[in-house]
Amino acid sequence: MQIKAIKGFKDILPEEAKRRRKIEDKARKIFENTGLKEIRTPVLEKTEVFARGIGEHTDIVEKEMYTFIDRNGESLTLRPEATAGILRAVIEHKLYNTSPLLKLYTIGPMFRHERPQKGRLRQFHQINVEYVGSYSPLADADVIFLAYEIVTSFADPEGLLLEINSLGCSKCRPLHRKDLLKFLENNKKELCKDCQRRAKTNPLRVFDCKNEECKIVLKFAPVMKHYICPDCASHLGKVLDTLEAYGIPFVQNPYLVRGLDYYNRTTFELVSKGLGAQSTVAAGGRYDGLVKLLGGPELPGVGMAIGVERLLLLMEEKGDERREGLFIAAFGDEAREEALYWIGYLRKKGIKCEFSLEDKSLKAQMKQADKSKARYCLIVGEDEIENEEAILRDLETKEQEKIDLDELPEGILEKIKE
Ligand code: ATP
Ligand code: MG
Repeated sequence: MQIKAIKGFKDILPEEAKRRRKIEDKARKIFENTGLKEIRTPVLEKTEVFARGIGEHTDIVEKEMYTFIDRNGESLTLRPEATAGILRAVIEHKLYNTSPLLKLYTIGPMFRHERPQKGRLRQFHQINVEYVGSYSPLADADVIFLAYEIVTSFADPEGLLLEINSLGCSKCRPLHRKDLLKFLENNKKELCKDCQRRAKTNPLRVFDCKNEECKIVLKFAPVMKHYICPDCASHLGKVLDTLEAYGIPFVQNPYLVRGLDYYNRTTFELVSKGLGAQSTVAAGGRYDGLVKLLGGPELPGVGMAIGVERLLLLMEEKGDERREGLFIAAFGDEAREEALYWIGYLRKKGIKCEFSLEDKSLKAQMKQADKSKARYCLIVGEDEIENEEAILRDLETKEQEKIDLDELPEGILEKIKE
């Protein structure tokens, strides 16, 4: 019987791997330009890291984690997001002693047991950024800038909306919470079962509810905006001013909250108008209490995550890709033996060089050359060996020229390198 991949776990085939590499390469370039350093943490952590770091009463911890007991009887979890694990590593290695501001990024798979659909998988991939050590609103703006810069490198900015809100701090948030709880109690009957539960465990999360009826009721709920303290208001104001200076358009959304418990102050989402239900491409915000919560010193932080699969959905389909390198179509024993020397030489010079492993007809090999997306095809059959001249065909312009065999392979090096 045939064995298939697990539901929600997807094979990334060569075509898509190439598109992903393009995104990753671009992200790395932007990160290096902004002075970020890469960190890679394990995909498996002690469950406690996420239970504490994300919060017990979140969708992720309550129902989406891949948790199991390993052979030593320890509860382990496949990481559902990157922040908690990265901060665990920052604390464990006291990385905060190396620099007053850590600017870290990671790119890799995350795991959540959700219902698979377009833009929602069980193994998905994120590009993550964490700034640890700064209370400055410029850090928030920088992180948002990185998200915007990467996403708009591949998606049309016209189709995107940057939404921002402030969740307040430990001073002003409790006042909002108190009024929100009162509102939820008074409107309990209009809310879905999930929201009734959230009202008890994590009330802010009701704003995350996707249920249309709840959304209507919650339009009348008290929002943080009206409770925000002067410090938080000034922080938000500076973030918005900086975004303006960076030339990044945004809208304020007072209903925007994050599914994770640890956020405070700035929270944001980069939403696509064209992605349907799974419309959030990137999201993030500030988490000033989290490092301490995970057993580290009192250190502020701000971060973001881009969903790679959703960005892929937005990526414009580029037409014909660029041709590159050489394909050697060699027919007959003598030609093929010569060709092996040329291939060895050219590959060592850094030239992309392919060859037919089977001694097929020249016509079949040229077809293969075209498919390989090589820029040039070097044709050497029995006639060419006899005339001591090979043919170099430009597969883009369809022009051909003859080259003396004794000039090969050096004679075509410069040409192919262009
Ligand atoms: P959603 O509301 O779509 O469930 P979320 O609030 O759970 O998102 P975050 O935890 O903030 O998402 O993760 C950041 C980003 O990672 C999301 O904006 C999205 O682009 C991506 N993401 C999250 N979960 C998935 C998933 N199951 N499949 C694919 N991408 C995902
Ligand atoms: Mg989710």
